[in-house]
Amino acid sequence: MIDAIDDVLPQTQCRQCGFEGCRAYAWSIVMDETPINRCATGGAAVIKQLAAITGREEIPLDPEYGEEVPLAVSFINPDLCIGCRKCVAYCPTGAIVGAPKRLHAVLTDWCTGCALCVIPCPVDCIEMRPAPFQWTRERAHQARERYHAKLEREKNREARRNARLAQESSAEKKKALLASILAQVKKNQ
Ligand code: SF4
Ligand code: SF4
Ligand code: SF4
Repeated sequence: MIDAIDDVLPQTQCRQCGFEGCRAYAWSIVMDETPINRCATGGAAVIKQLAAITGREEIPLDPEYGEEVPLAVSFINPDLCIGCRKCVAYCPTGAIVGAPKRLHAVLTDWCTGCALCVIPCPVDCIEMRPAPFQWTRERAHQARERYHAKLEREKNREARRNARLAQESSAEKKKALLASILAQVKKNQ
């Protein structure tokens, strides 16, 4: 059931539903009986599909979780970007590219229009513009793959960081042990 629900959610990972992403919302619909009318991105069409999958009543979108708006993609003003990379961390699909302290740009084709990158930008150089494409099921699946790939990269980065910290801490311990052995040897001379 969770897979079936996740499959019809738009996969923009915009978090308007109040969950960390589409899969988390799908999980909560099944496990916590969260209402099926919180995905503004998918709107009435997705609610209809969710009602069919869950057997629940088809209800209107809850306005507390946003409203249906036309698909937009983000654009970075090249004259203003300072290359701080704050936006990169927020992008669920890895659609923002650029080197530190250099101009960043959006891979429009990878952008889901979630707008999560807009708020953290310290110089307000990101704006949302009408999307040059329709949001299809194929795009949704690609976005989901990119999102999961990004989560995997973050998990691996964290594991490498923890391993490095553990190694450093054991190197520190070894150094301290050697110092105490040396001090003991000197004392015994
Ligand atoms: S697309 Fe819908 S289900 Fe997915 S995160 Fe956005 S609001 Fe939630
Ligand atoms: S570029 Fe911005 S709007 Fe597009 S997917 Fe990334 S965070 Fe969302
Ligand atoms: S947050 Fe704004 S200034 Fe920083 S890299 Fe992104 S677009 Fe450029």
